[in-house]
Amino acid sequence: MKKSFLIPLLLFCCPLAATAVEQQEVQDSVREAVEWRHHLHQNPELSFQEYKTSSYVAELLSSFGSIEVLRPTETSVVGILRGGKPGKTVAFRADMDALPVQEQTGFSFASKTPGVSHACGHDMHTAMLLGTARVLASMQKELPGTVYFIFQPGEEKSPGGALPIIKSGVLKGVDAIFGAHVMPHAPTGSIGILPAGPASSSSDGFFLTIQGKGSHGSMPQLGVDPIVTGAEVVMALQTVVSRSVTPGDMAVVTIGKFQSGNAPNVIPDKAELGASIRSVTPETRKLLEERTRSIIDHVCKANGARYKLDYELGYPAIENNSALRELAKKAAIQAVGEKNVFDAPRIPASEDFSYYGQVAPIYFMTISSGDGPANHNPGFKADDAAISNGIKTEVRIILDYLNSK
Ligand SMILES: [Zn+2]
Ligand SMILES: [Zn+2]
Repeated sequence: MKKSFLIPLLLFCCPLAATAVEQQEVQDSVREAVEWRHHLHQNPELSFQEYKTSSYVAELLSSFGSIEVLRPTETSVVGILRGGKPGKTVAFRADMDALPVQEQTGFSFASKTPGVSHACGHDMHTAMLLGTARVLASMQKELPGTVYFIFQPGEEKSPGGALPIIKSGVLKGVDAIFGAHVMPHAPTGSIGILPAGPASSSSDGFFLTIQGKGSHGSMPQLGVDPIVTGAEVVMALQTVVSRSVTPGDMAVVTIGKFQSGNAPNVIPDKAELGASIRSVTPETRKLLEERTRSIIDHVCKANGARYKLDYELGYPAIENNSALRELAKKAAIQAVGEKNVFDAPRIPASEDFSYYGQVAPIYFMTISSGDGPANHNPGFKADDAAISNGIKTEVRIILDYLNSK
């Protein structure tokens, strides 16, 4: 990678030149990031199998100079750029994993691996953060503080790749962590400023087996009917949101699976149910679990049925820090212009970026990747054109954070 020796000289002689230099670096990095993105897109790897991807990222980070490259877990990469001046420590996170989805985008650089593709756009996240790292590495001498570039595996597969990185201790001392996700349905390259407070939902759920007692359909008194019991469970659970959750507080209880029986004249011996349960605050999340457990227990007992309940906690909701939101919004406006920045509503999906809140205040935003089907659809087409605004915004956020009081 070629770099002008004039850059540090300009920065040293005249801090005002930083913007022009930054712009040139951004332009060069965007050009390269598009190529990196195509490579990543063609070579997707599933969650926790990002061996080639993480090696590719680590090699590129090393080639930028000034960046210390760590591998805290098997397929993660953390790059540390220590600036020439003292200051705070800020991190930006990109996820790297692909999905078990057969691509149908028609891209000339489509996945070369059958049944696996970057249908959530994590190739975009990785390429943009690499571009951001390249820009900032060129400004190392003038940088007031330290930047961590977190390349995370396994976002798509619970319990996710964030927690093992956090547990490794590598992020100790980081003061703030930012992240972004590409999304369709807004003009390409526009930056969605998600709200302060809950910015996504937690994603929990349960698997329930109701054990009844089989019988002839004409002799229900000799059995314990798991279908009737299950139906009562389903209906009683509808009262959790309508009667127990404070009106206006977001909560969802969806029973998406109910399987039992094979014949009209047979009372089966068991029923299997599955549910998806979502909320945005820890208090409501706890309430939903308590009420769900209690209802299942009491309804099953009242019907004389036994049960086995596996209640699974998924990713918590992202809790966006309000001061970081303001900083990110101002930085995005400065980077890409006011018309390309909008206040985005909370995203309904869940994200393991939320776990980084255990380390430091966090802020998560969206980068619009053009029209078309939603993330996870085989036809999800993230537009290369979003990469430029993504890199500009990431660079500006990091610089503004390091320069803030
Ligand atoms: Zn996804
Ligand atoms: Zn994703």
